[in-house]
Amino acid sequence: MTMRSICVFCGAKSGSRPEYAAAAREVGTAIAANRWRLVYGAGDVGIMGEVARAAIAAGARTLGIIPAHLLDREQGKRDLTTLIVTEDMHERKKVMFMNSDAIVVLPGGAGSLDEFFEVLTWAQIGLHGKPIFLVDIEGYWRPLTDLLAHIVREGFADASMLSLYSTVSTSADLIDALKETLG
Ligand code: AMP
Repeated sequence: MTMRSICVFCGAKSGSRPEYAAAAREVGTAIAANRWRLVYGAGDVGIMGEVARAAIAAGARTLGIIPAHLLDREQGKRDLTTLIVTEDMHERKKVMFMNSDAIVVLPGGAGSLDEFFEVLTWAQIGLHGKPIFLVDIEGYWRPLTDLLAHIVREGFADASMLSLYSTVSTSADLIDALKETLG
């Protein structure tokens, strides 16, 4: 079977609880243990850096994609299996998505939300059927899932939108779900 690639969207910051970085490291290590490839934003900052360092330390193949103008700000990581430098953010998201079999969203800020909503809205209009996992570490994404439910209740999306992503509570649950989905 060809190698499966897991796209991880997450914060360029570490957040205020150590559980976020711990979960990121667990996800990176598990990606290696399952012989999947990590696809991510190629930064060495925040929990992005945690996922990547853990994945590399455990022997995973890695594909990082970063726009040229963020190479300094996000400390573009040079020790990846493959590093792609794009012209802009749009191209970055597209290349990350195209090279992935599943999308994982760990805690993060506006950038992670942008990435999540892009893949969610693409799924909503039928452009893809790749699985999307929100990893709700310490209930971090609860306000987001509440908002999505509110959008459906208030009639701005069909209930089917809520089935376009899965919410898991821990990195262990994520890995189980990925194994089940990717086979
Ligand atoms: P954040 O969740 O805000 O820490 O950002 C996580 C990642 O998303 C970082 O690598 C940001 O550079 C990236 N990002 C921020 N805004 C965008 C955007 N509009 N399109 C694509 N990526 C973005």
